[in-house]
Amino acid sequence: MREKKRREILGKEKGFKPTSSGYIRIALGYPNTYSVGMSSLGFQWVWYLFNKRPDTICERFFYDTGNTTLESGRKIILFDFIAFSISYEMDYQRVIKMIEQTGLPVRADERDERMPVFIAGGGFASINPEPLAPFFDVIVVGDGEGVIDALLDRYHETKGLGKKEFLESIKDLRGIYIPSITFPVYRGGEIESFEGREVEQNVSFSHPVPFTPVVTPLSHFSDMELIEVERGCRFRCKFCTVGYVNAPFREYDMEEVLDVVNHHRIGLIGASLADYTKFDRIIERLKGRVTHIGVSSVRADRIKKHTMKSLVEMGLKTITIAPEVASKKLMGVISKGITEEQIMGFVNKANDSGIRRVKMYFLIGVPEEDLSDIEMMAGLIMKVNRAFNGEVRVSVNVMIPKPFTAFERLSLITKVDYNHRVSLLKKLIKGIRVDIMPYREAYTQTLFSRGDRRLFFDKNLDKDVFVYHMDSMNVLPWGFIKRG
Ligand code: SF4
Repeated sequence: MREKKRREILGKEKGFKPTSSGYIRIALGYPNTYSVGMSSLGFQWVWYLFNKRPDTICERFFYDTGNTTLESGRKIILFDFIAFSISYEMDYQRVIKMIEQTGLPVRADERDERMPVFIAGGGFASINPEPLAPFFDVIVVGDGEGVIDALLDRYHETKGLGKKEFLESIKDLRGIYIPSITFPVYRGGEIESFEGREVEQNVSFSHPVPFTPVVTPLSHFSDMELIEVERGCRFRCKFCTVGYVNAPFREYDMEEVLDVVNHHRIGLIGASLADYTKFDRIIERLKGRVTHIGVSSVRADRIKKHTMKSLVEMGLKTITIAPEVASKKLMGVISKGITEEQIMGFVNKANDSGIRRVKMYFLIGVPEEDLSDIEMMAGLIMKVNRAFNGEVRVSVNVMIPKPFTAFERLSLITKVDYNHRVSLLKKLIKGIRVDIMPYREAYTQTLFSRGDRRLFFDKNLDKDVFVYHMDSMNVLPWGFIKRG
């Protein structure tokens, strides 16, 4: 990246500036643009935690900033660690590209002792880290807080002994997965068992409350501070990883959340915000203190009218709900438990509060779904559109049968069934903007979330097995992860 551009980006950042002059050097990468990376609370939080250690310097790099770091412009291969924060499966190819661009061998087993230690962490690792296993020396499974300090302490203790000794020294830590120590044994093209130790997911709850220490107009959420108010979810909808993988549900104390509000534009982050115990009170307390608020999706049955009104007064224009399905039958299948009556009640509250836009998320490809369920979905969407005074937007995603959910072994919907459902939806929904996930994306997401370490190397691998035929597999690629 050119020096002028680097300075320009840094010049626009407000907030935390690392001052550590430590000797442990970490280059932390985000496999997407600077704008997307800086809107990731997880990425910014890990960068902050690393830099809070007096013995550590952590500098950032992004997909669009090349193979030098943003802070000093130093080449990332000169750092002790090259770390990646990876949230989504769809970023995997960019991760691989960024590793290739370092000029070092992409496979961990081809890199030698003198080369940096490659670490990965983030949402992907708690679900199924196997597809990226060959690229990394260490993968953090679960919450990063707690593991980071233990890992760097061991690095400090083994400094000078070499990479192998360091990896040996951390292998017993909770949440640490070392792909060269725990690996699958194949027989007849399938995983027969795992060699090495089970990996126990790390569960922690950091203090202070995680927030984005830097705001910038160049972030996707321009000049907005993001604050995590809860982790996991109270509910266990059968298709959703949040309720399973991020268990147990944890929420932050309201006063602690208020303590980290440093800007006038804030976004509250949580899987189901209206279920935060003191949601109504925290919104009242924030009134007058912030000029703009953003909230991630809320459950239609939980949000109260006066809270919605307060949110509108604080600049909220769009509110998002995720009914996922419309028929009673499918609500039961996915255990979502929201009724049409509750959704229409939500629409009334949205009208009374003066919100401008309602965004709704739906799923197709749910078990037991047939075309009558799709008709009901279209019917509900049109009913909401008629009843709501503002604009309605709809996103239709394909249900990805993800690891650790109740549907982890199910097949992805077939292309033929997908096409029938999409045509029907397009025929029945009129005058509303509807974004539908392309089938190719659903296929790739399923493959990347359920594949194993052969995925990016074995050209003869039958990829359809991971997408459509996992029901008969004895050992699943994520079978070595133990949940607390
Ligand atoms: S779909 Fe929403 S309510 Fe259900 S478990 Fe996931 S985050 Fe929670």
